[in-house]
Amino acid sequence: MLGVPSDPPVPSAPVTPAVLDTLREIVGEKGLILDEQDKQPFVTDWRGSLVGRAAAVVRPANTQQVSKVVKLCHDNSVAIVPQGGNTGLMGGATPWPAHRGIVLSLGRMNHVLDVDPAGYSMTVEAGCILQTIQETAAGHDRFFPLSLGAQGSCMIGGNLSTNAGGVQVLRYGNARNLVLGLEVVLANGDVWDGLRSLKKDNTGYDLKHLFMGAEGTLGIITKAVLKLWPAPKDVCTAWLAIRDPQAAINILSEAYAASDDNVGSCELMSRACTDLVLRHVPGTQDPLKADTEWYLLLEWSSSRPRQDGAAGMSDKMEQFLADQMEAGRVLDAAIAQTQTQARNMWRIRESVAEASRAEGPGLSYDVSVAVSRIPEFIGRGSKAVLEILPTIRPYPLGHIGDGNLHFSFMGPIGMDRQTLTQYSTAITRAVNDLVTSMRGSISAEHGIGADKIDELAHYRSKTELDIMRTIKRALDPNNIMNPGKVLRLS
Ligand SMILES: Cc1cc2nc3c(=O)[nH]c(=O)nc-3n(C[C@H](O)[C@H](O)[C@H](O)COP(=O)(O)OP(=O)(O)OC[C@H]3O[C@@H](n4cnc5c(N)ncnc54)[C@H](O)[C@@H]3O)c2cc1C
Repeated sequence: MLGVPSDPPVPSAPVTPAVLDTLREIVGEKGLILDEQDKQPFVTDWRGSLVGRAAAVVRPANTQQVSKVVKLCHDNSVAIVPQGGNTGLMGGATPWPAHRGIVLSLGRMNHVLDVDPAGYSMTVEAGCILQTIQETAAGHDRFFPLSLGAQGSCMIGGNLSTNAGGVQVLRYGNARNLVLGLEVVLANGDVWDGLRSLKKDNTGYDLKHLFMGAEGTLGIITKAVLKLWPAPKDVCTAWLAIRDPQAAINILSEAYAASDDNVGSCELMSRACTDLVLRHVPGTQDPLKADTEWYLLLEWSSSRPRQDGAAGMSDKMEQFLADQMEAGRVLDAAIAQTQTQARNMWRIRESVAEASRAEGPGLSYDVSVAVSRIPEFIGRGSKAVLEILPTIRPYPLGHIGDGNLHFSFMGPIGMDRQTLTQYSTAITRAVNDLVTSMRGSISAEHGIGADKIDELAHYRSKTELDIMRTIKRALDPNNIMNPGKVLRLS
């Protein structure tokens, strides 16, 4: 991560021997990590570019323990960095180097508490791994749609706290749309029990939405009631070589009707991204080599099993692709004939972050603009960045149906991290100025964390920042919940 703001003044009292003894009483030896070596995975971010400190990593086993730990910290002004799978890309889960408080890891709270197939809901603890939730839903012939590259290690509490997006937002919405109820430990240790399975509940402010997307700055999510959907029964995955980003917008726009409203995912990939993955991720295979810079991963899925004699998803997709080829938008296409082929296509898309980490230093901007303005943004944004550093290597990709681009660049070949950092301020300003001038967002799905705290302050209005600060001060007056993340208080 480049361009991270310098260590802010984070007001936290130290963890005294007396506080440590009480922590040990609450969570037991099993729930406390004090050894410096053992703490490393919890104080280092996923990219390995941020390393912080913590007096202890505390791993409670249930809500009561979380509540007692938070109350103890509140009473002693000890700061808390909540942590799930530590896959966040904005440094939100990584303590600052000056952090003298604790990391509170939810990893031991990993139980699925209830599945209600008839009511299409599931109740889980915050430390459940996303993939476990998907698999549990599938085991009940149901579908939990949140899906992203880190699903094997990110946890639902982290997903909700970042309001994660992923590859199914187009159809199901982002994480906050997948939730019916929450249980949250507040900054004073009180437990808010909002664990209701209600689709309709207009009883005042909808409190759960305060905590989703708050990145651990307002409280600790301990449990959630999640919405489920019917399991997909007829799925067709295709990899398309397309003319350009404008073709992608037009293809998607026509795909809704052609698929009978069954578009599940539509991911824009550049040739450079695909090659990056093929270079670094063993076992991946190029689904299609064509003379174009742009590709689309398009998936249609229906919960209706394919009927004998009736047109299924793949028949409809074939007809659609033939029409799109005739229109000159699709240049070539491969429809997955087996699950292995479909899996390979998805693996390429999902491995871009891993491949970029292996490639070396880079800059990545998770931005959104109105869907129809994506091509304009790619054109103007690339030009602006290349004017600042002509040898930087663009690797754009995105959840194009959500207007969300991962506008990514690898440093010029041979340029080290430190040198690239010298350009990052100017590039960041150019990208975010453009996004803002197009009424877009400087963070579409990854959040603010530590990385974009100055950018949020720069681009959001005083009115918006004041509302956010008012909420933060009301819910966390001692500023112990993930201080120095998301929002500066002054
Ligand atoms: C390979 C890869 C692919 C990714 N793809 C996507 C993608 O497509 N879409 C997307 O949106 N993100 C993506 N991400 C980012 C990341 O996986 C998500 O942000 C994820 O939701 C974070 O979950 P986590 O459990 O790892 O949270 P963490 O990284 O542990 O924490 C994230 C933030 O939430 C807070 N937090 C964690 N748990 C709690 C809790 N229980 N209560 C309160 N606060 C808490 C932390 O303090 C931190 O601020 C990707 C990351 C990787 C590495």
